[in-house]
Amino acid sequence: MLIVQKYGGTSVGSFDRIRNVAGRIKSLREDGHQVAVVVSAMGKTTNALEAVWSASAEAERRDLWATCVKEHMAVAEALGLSSSLTETLRDRMESCWQASEQVRPQSMDAAYDAMVAAGELASTTLVAAWLTQAGMSAAWWDVRNTLHTSGPHRFARVDESTLGEAGRSLRTRMDEAHVVLTQGFIGRHADGSTSTLGREGSDYSAALLAVAVGAAGVTIWKDVPGMMNADPKRHPEAVTVPKVAHAEALELSYYGASVIHPRTVKPLQLAGLPLWV
Ligand code: ASP
Ligand code: MG
Repeated sequence: MLIVQKYGGTSVGSFDRIRNVAGRIKSLREDGHQVAVVVSAMGKTTNALEAVWSASAEAERRDLWATCVKEHMAVAEALGLSSSLTETLRDRMESCWQASEQVRPQSMDAAYDAMVAAGELASTTLVAAWLTQAGMSAAWWDVRNTLHTSGPHRFARVDESTLGEAGRSLRTRMDEAHVVLTQGFIGRHADGSTSTLGREGSDYSAALLAVAVGAAGVTIWKDVPGMMNADPKRHPEAVTVPKVAHAEALELSYYGASVIHPRTVKPLQLAGLPLWV
């Protein structure tokens, strides 16, 4: 079966958690599935990158940025990544900094997108590198090649009617590599610039990718026991709901727990694909 799995920032927040995720992907692979794995930025990285972007003095930005890079390098080291994989990680992060600084004078919003993309590019690089190092063929995929966006920076949209066509090259890559690691939250505008879909947008990305590659379904891993009828942080009496129709899930995602991003359900509903939480 072809499946899309999405792991949030907490699931990849440290090196032992990354190894955990790798274990799950490995067992899916052993069961014969093909998986596209969407991974959020590690832990609170996106907030940290927002802080880099919002610092007005260049020296402060450089400082905060250096801390972000250092944290990722420490994880690379803990995972025991080879020096060439570590260089790839550094290069991918560095290109975000450069793109962001370059457009900053013209557009703060474009600079935001270019900067925060570093979080997902880095986390997916780390997980893919770890899997490869652990002997599993796992390919890294730049989701900006698949999710073409329009609309304003920071709040981009994806034209869902183009997904089938856009998903072809990713699908081919999945057929070759069986496991593909890719980003949520980011995409590319027609002018070539990086875009983002709004905070917490990775669930939505996973749904879009599932439609794009013709997956059998989507699994979203969360730090709650499953889809719930209310936010357990505010309502301790909240219970998990075993199985819901898309329309109901859509409603729950608006009124109930902030378990899944509200836009996630719609593309799945249209394509008739199941979502497992
Ligand atoms: N990393 C992004 C955020 O924290 C996207 C996501 O996690 O869904 O908003
Ligand atoms: Mg996140």
